[in-house]
Amino acid sequence: MIIEPNRLTAGSLREECGIFGIYNHPEAAVITYLGLYSIQHRGQESAGIVTSDGERLHQHRAMGEVREVFPEEIIAELKGNIAIGHVRYSTTGTSILANAQPIKADSLHGSMAVAHNGNLLNALYLREELEQAGAIFHSTSDSEVILHLISHSRKEDTLEAFIDALSRLKGAFSLVACTEDTLIAARDPYGFRPLCIGRLDGTVVVASESCVFDIVGGSFERDVEPGEVLVMNRRGMESVKPFPEKPHSLCVFEYIYFSSPASVVDGKSVYEVRKRLGSILAKDFPADADMVVPVPDSSNVAALGYAQGSGIPFEFGLIRSHYIGRTFIEPVQRIRDFGSKLKYNAVPRILSGKRVVVVDDSIVRGTTSGKIINMLRRAGAEEVHLRISSPIITHPCFYGIDTPTREELIGSSSSVEEIARYTGADSLAYQSMSGLREAVGEGAEAHCYACFCGEYPLEIPPDVGKEALEGIFRRSKMF
Ligand code: SF4
Repeated sequence: MIIEPNRLTAGSLREECGIFGIYNHPEAAVITYLGLYSIQHRGQESAGIVTSDGERLHQHRAMGEVREVFPEEIIAELKGNIAIGHVRYSTTGTSILANAQPIKADSLHGSMAVAHNGNLLNALYLREELEQAGAIFHSTSDSEVILHLISHSRKEDTLEAFIDALSRLKGAFSLVACTEDTLIAARDPYGFRPLCIGRLDGTVVVASESCVFDIVGGSFERDVEPGEVLVMNRRGMESVKPFPEKPHSLCVFEYIYFSSPASVVDGKSVYEVRKRLGSILAKDFPADADMVVPVPDSSNVAALGYAQGSGIPFEFGLIRSHYIGRTFIEPVQRIRDFGSKLKYNAVPRILSGKRVVVVDDSIVRGTTSGKIINMLRRAGAEEVHLRISSPIITHPCFYGIDTPTREELIGSSSSVEEIARYTGADSLAYQSMSGLREAVGEGAEAHCYACFCGEYPLEIPPDVGKEALEGIFRRSKMF
């Protein structure tokens, strides 16, 4: 039986997807490969690239990480100087090759491909409407809906058809698309998911995160604004804002967990926000301890902030393995325990006899925290004080982050004391909402905090629960 570690360790939130696009570069496929490599943390289930040589589109996508999916000979076949790419962790649709992106189709507007990061609240409604109009879907991914909407648009001009399609979407979308001669990038009017542009060798690069420029070279220019559509073709780059203005609502979890600390998202350094989360936590919820230990890697910077804020020494008491492949063979039973053990090693020489503050970025079901605390105790830690750099997660996300249902979120039904008992921590404290806003700093109100408070910036239709989404996809022709 082949199983996937990220399913085994599903006690944490999962990144959604990462996208990349480049216009008019002689090595478009290679640069896109490197760009995807640098945002691999946003999704490891599948990867894909579509290029255009000016006459036709070339596509390759497969299950697995970027380095597995794109050997040199495949990259060599992806000809052309326009490219878009995608790394995926599924939030809707199942984990199958048909759902890997970019998704490509031929239509009245010519060949077109789309790579999408986010989650569409009305995808199921649109899908049923399109199926009634004769559309045949090849995947269960809501991103395919976008392609069908474009091809069903009555607008003759490709850009107008594209905008016509996007104006029907409700939900979170940052996306890149290409035709034979054009690259398009767009961000939904709320700006839930990040998207930025930069320059490389005089050409335009679009990416989920600015950290790509460390790998591919070039320079970060600016964030794509919420509601902005950018079109790059031989006439140059054009920016339009065709949608009604909405309150900006960047996912605050981009700072807490999803984005690389090397990135700047909507003008803020992820590293700096994350470090402030730790130092505010130390000020508000001190602990009498000998060392501060992060749950690596996503909590490293917050733990550093806690250590510096409290004056308690920072130690890597847990080491994360970076060499676990995407899949492995199940050994025996207790699969979930095995997954956690593979991911972390405790360091007894560091931990033995010590009072430890362990800093993590979030608690979802509570199972992972319990295993980590157990691991620290087995390595000799005398006391374990758990500090969480985000507030209590009480509500699921409908904008592209894979969270369990409300009932499965331990924070929705248990008190902090009950969660401390469940995880085995000697003490437990979460970031306060005011602490989170203080760490985000200027413009803190222009973010989504819905999973902590239930105030969704874009109304969730009553029939759009996780089960409803999955139910309709199960009913679809794919199954
Ligand atoms: S609900 Fe939570 S995870 Fe989802 S977009 Fe809002 S802040 Fe981000």
